[in-house]
Amino acid sequence: MANPEQKHPKNIPGKFYCTDPDDDGGEGCIACNVCYTGAPEFFGEDDDGNAFVHKQPETEEEVALCMEQLEACPVASIGNDG
Ligand code: SF4
Repeated sequence: MANPEQKHPKNIPGKFYCTDPDDDGGEGCIACNVCYTGAPEFFGEDDDGNAFVHKQPETEEEVALCMEQLEACPVASIGNDG
């Protein structure tokens, strides 16, 4: 599950974030590639294939695209604090 206390360290500040794979519950990103394939402008991958947000969405369409990734993430690792 998305954990705002254990965000991936590379997330750019803002309302969207990816949870670190080493979060306490062991339920962070599993490097499935859904988000950074579906919305590469906003989600990137680190050297291990784990996702982080590298650009925050601004327009309504961009937010909708990021919300699609949030809903598609198989382990609900993407959070939205907005
Ligand atoms: S969709 Fe979820 S599990 Fe897959 S890479 Fe993105 S954050 Fe990680």
